[in-house]
Amino acid sequence: MKAQPKASHFIDGAYVEDTSGRVIEVVHPATGDIIARLHAATPELVIRAVLAAKAAQADWAALRPVERARILRRAHDLVRARNDEIARIESLDTGRALSETLYVDAVSVAEALEFYAGVIPAYNGEAIALGGAFAYTRREPLGVCVGIGAWNYPFQGAGWKSAPALAAGNAMVFKPSENSPLSALILAEIYKEAGLPDGLFNVVQGYGDVGQALVEHPATAKVSLTGSVPTGKKVLGLAGSLMKHGTMELGGKSPLIIFADAPLDNAVSGALMANFYSTGQVCTNGTRVFVERPIHDALVARVTERAAKIKIGDPLDPSVTMGPLISRAQQEKVLGYIEAGRQEGATLHFGGGVPVMQGMEGGFWIEPTIFTGVTDTMRIAREEIFGPVMSILAFDSEDEVIARANDTEFGLAAGVFTQDIARAHRVIGKLEAGMCWINNYNLAPVEVPFGGVKSSGVGRECALAALDHYTEIKSIYVETGDVVSVF
Ligand code: NAD
Repeated sequence: MKAQPKASHFIDGAYVEDTSGRVIEVVHPATGDIIARLHAATPELVIRAVLAAKAAQADWAALRPVERARILRRAHDLVRARNDEIARIESLDTGRALSETLYVDAVSVAEALEFYAGVIPAYNGEAIALGGAFAYTRREPLGVCVGIGAWNYPFQGAGWKSAPALAAGNAMVFKPSENSPLSALILAEIYKEAGLPDGLFNVVQGYGDVGQALVEHPATAKVSLTGSVPTGKKVLGLAGSLMKHGTMELGGKSPLIIFADAPLDNAVSGALMANFYSTGQVCTNGTRVFVERPIHDALVARVTERAAKIKIGDPLDPSVTMGPLISRAQQEKVLGYIEAGRQEGATLHFGGGVPVMQGMEGGFWIEPTIFTGVTDTMRIAREEIFGPVMSILAFDSEDEVIARANDTEFGLAAGVFTQDIARAHRVIGKLEAGMCWINNYNLAPVEVPFGGVKSSGVGRECALAALDHYTEIKSIYVETGDVVSVF
């Protein structure tokens, strides 16, 4: 199985290769086979990409918003037309099952393009009456924006960052994760075919040093990073030291609170989706499942019964519902947490092992895993695992569960299942999280602002909020009378 792209990078409207850059081996997580070999961008290529973006940006920003929107709409059509191809590349690159990638990845990028093409012509400043004078504001693009992606949703990451950035009149240089570098190149092809002028969307491959070089380049104005909290702290620190804008979409350890009155099967569906979708590699996952004591045992039984039906296997088989983890390193990390959970006294209720997959023995497999008897101080309840490991914690009262849910450095997401409408809103109102759900979990439509609080991030993606983060406000005071002067 091979998925070698035409070249490693896409700069100024064309594929570019420079084999002197450090090798990036692209591994299919289900087999461990190398499916492509790319090269990290050299410092010269980083500069070339940034300068191409800078050269193209002013003319793009000068277009009428409807003209930019027209190109994004064509890109939308092309993304939808290439849905299955994108899904296959995504499944090869990340190991996530086709049963997800066929329906989520290209679709969410198509919707972002559709959304921003639709709203950008109406995204304007305001007019402010000031008696004899008035003022107006303009929303101006920042210039060249840097996008840096995580490995779990690489196509979505590239699309969610570039669609609002481009709509607002910016150019972008995007660096995918070194673990899943392939699909951003398809997005670059699509933008080109849609008529996006050369240089406005560039893809450069590389490790952290390439991301850092992009942020450091004097011609870049902003960085939008999706990644872990430690990386986010480094990147936002660097951007801050250069007085550049930063949007940080980082990790989490989110609470999912299930009250005793919740319809059991919906709550169980929520808990399963919040822990096992994408083999647990979703930043918003509700990995601390707080269950009100009267239904604790019933919920554990039902979750286990349904988890046992998860079909682990070849991500390219459409009937499979859970693929492998992204890499050997991630598999070892997750197994380490499972061991830590055992050692610290949690009950390994389900899974916890490495399944033997015939014909795919080299893959990074892991069983869906459920711990019960988890307490708040255990590492599995405090640290982001980023694998299919659910921790179930019992609780007795509303105030208690709110305090426990908030007792974390993270604040990405939170969920509540209850039929008591007043309690649902009361509890959500007190949870320290950016992305919240009542009676569902992990849905992220583009119309809704997406992002975290506390250590989970700064800024928002999606919705009109993302446009605010890809523009500056210019305020213009207009005098219609005489100038008052004390001189
Ligand atoms: P990571 O932090 O290891 O890497 C993220 C990206 O940052 C990669 O492209 C990497 O090459 C780059 N990078 C690393 N060091 C850098 C530096 N010094 N300067 C610039 N760039 C640098 O994260 P990951 O392992 O790829 O992804 C998993 C993490 O991402 C998890 O913590 C997960 O929760 C988080 N995540 C968050 C969201 C969100 O929207 N909040 C979405 C998906 C994943």
